[in-house]
Amino acid sequence: MSRKIRTRVAPSPTGDPHVGTAYIAMFNIAFAHVNNGEFILRIEDTDQVRSTKESENMIFDSLKWLGLNWSEGPDISGPYAPYRQSERFDMYGDYARELVEKGEAYYCFCTPERLSNLRERQKAMKKAPGYDGHCRSLSKEEVKAKLDAGDPYVIRLKMPYEGQTIVHDRLRGDIVFENNIIDDQVLLKADGYPTYHLANVVDDHLMKITTVIRAEEWISSTPKHIQLYKAFGWEKPEFIHMPLLRNSDRTKISKRKNPVSLNWYREEGYLKEGLLNFLGMMAYSVKEGKEIFSLEEFKDTFNIDNVSLGGPVFDLVKLGWINNQHMRLKDLKELTDLAVPFFKEEGYFGNEMTSHERIAMERIVELLREHAHTLKEIAKEAAVYYKDEYELPEVTEEMNKKERKGIERLHKGIADETGKKSIKLFLEKLKEFPTEEIELEAAKKLLTDTLEEIGEGPGKVYMPLRAVLTGEPRGADLYNLIFVIGKKRTIKRIENMIKKYNI
Ligand code: GLU
Repeated sequence: MSRKIRTRVAPSPTGDPHVGTAYIAMFNIAFAHVNNGEFILRIEDTDQVRSTKESENMIFDSLKWLGLNWSEGPDISGPYAPYRQSERFDMYGDYARELVEKGEAYYCFCTPERLSNLRERQKAMKKAPGYDGHCRSLSKEEVKAKLDAGDPYVIRLKMPYEGQTIVHDRLRGDIVFENNIIDDQVLLKADGYPTYHLANVVDDHLMKITTVIRAEEWISSTPKHIQLYKAFGWEKPEFIHMPLLRNSDRTKISKRKNPVSLNWYREEGYLKEGLLNFLGMMAYSVKEGKEIFSLEEFKDTFNIDNVSLGGPVFDLVKLGWINNQHMRLKDLKELTDLAVPFFKEEGYFGNEMTSHERIAMERIVELLREHAHTLKEIAKEAAVYYKDEYELPEVTEEMNKKERKGIERLHKGIADETGKKSIKLFLEKLKEFPTEEIELEAAKKLLTDTLEEIGEGPGKVYMPLRAVLTGEPRGADLYNLIFVIGKKRTIKRIENMIKKYNI
C-alpha cells in the first residue's frame, strides 16, 4: 500500500524570513498538491540561542502573505503536534538513548580541550577534521562510572568504519559517500538538546514525512540521516535536493550580494504573485516555457522530474520584469489598494482618502503600472501628481548630454517669448474652464487649442507648459496630470511658477 504523500518545510527561526524558505516551501507544496498529499510546517528551533519568537512569527507571516499555506503547523496544530521542536525536547533524549541501548550510538565524554587538541593535531597533519572515536570503545562499566560521577557527555552516532552510504536523490541519482570519512555525528548535546540531525530525522519519521525536498546544501547531511534511519530501523523518506539559489557570480545566495529577506521584497512593493512566479521559475519551467504564471497554475501542472539542476541565478532585473507583468494583470482596484500604504509612506495623503483622491490615485496607478517594477516605484514616480511646489532642476557636472539638454530646454522654454505667451494663454483657458474636474479629452483639447492658437511647433509650446506644470523635462503626460490634479491645483502650479521665475 503506498503511503499518503507528506512534505514539509522546516525553517529555523533565526533572523529574517529567508527567500529560500519560500522557494523550498513552494516546491514542497506543489509536490504535495499533485500527489493529493499534505504539506506541513515545522519550526526547527533547536538552536536555543539564535532562535526567536519574533523570527518565527515573521516566517508565519511572510509565508501566509505569499499564500504558501500549510495544513499542519505550530500555529494550527495537527495530528502529529507539537510542530515546534522546542516543545518536543523531552523525547529526543529518549531516542538518542534508545540508540545507545541498541549499540548504534555511544556516550562521549571528551572534554572541549581534548577535542580542540585533536583538531589542532589533525590540522598539523593535514588530515580532515573529525572525531577520532576515542569514546567508542568505553566499556559499559566505564560509561556507568562516568555517568554516576556526573561527567558531562554527548551522544554520538556510531558510523560504520567501512562501506559506503548511498544517497538516492530522485533528481540526482545515486550519490556515494565513503563511510570512513563521515564523522560520528553528535546527536544529543552536552546540554541535553538534540542536534539538527537527530531532531530532524526523529520528527520526519514521527510526522510521517514521505518526501524530503530541501536545498542542495543539506546533501552532505543526508548520509548521516540515512544511517540514523537505519540505526532506528525506520523506513527512510525519499530525498530530493533542490538547486541552490545563486548570486550572479554563482555563489550561494547571500545577504551581501542580494536581498534575502522576504520582508525586504514585501516592503519594496513586489506583489506576492510576482515573487512566487519568479521563485517558481528558479530551477523549473512551467509548460512550454511559459514565463508568467500563477501559483495555482504552477501547482496544478507541477512535475518534480522536470526540475533542472543548473544553479538558478537570482536576478532582480528579471524579478522586476515579472513583477511588472503581474502588476499589469492585476485588477486595478486591488492594485490600488495594495499601493495605498506606499503612497501614505510618501506622505501624499493622511489616513483618510476622499473619493476624488481615490479616483485620482487609481488613475495614477493605472498609468504608472505600465512601466514600474514595484509598488514603491509607482509611489515614488507618483510624486509629480502630488507635489505642487518644485523648482526647475539645474544642470550639474554628472549629467549626461541628454539630461542636460532636457533641463536646458525647460529653462529656455520659460524665458522664450513664445513660451511665456503659451503659459499665459493656457492659464487663461484653464480659468475659463467651467468645472473643477477636467476630463482627459477636455484636458487634451485645452492643450491642443493652445498649440493651435500660438501657431508654433509643439516643442515651443509644450516644453514651457511642462516646465510650469511638472518642473521636469520628461515623465507624466500633461493631460493625464491635469485630469488627475484638477483645475485648482493646475492653476496654482502655474501661478506659483510665474511668480518664482518672473514669467
Ligand atoms: N532546519 C533546516 C533549515 O533551516 C531544515 C533543513 C531540512 O529541510 O532538513 O533549513
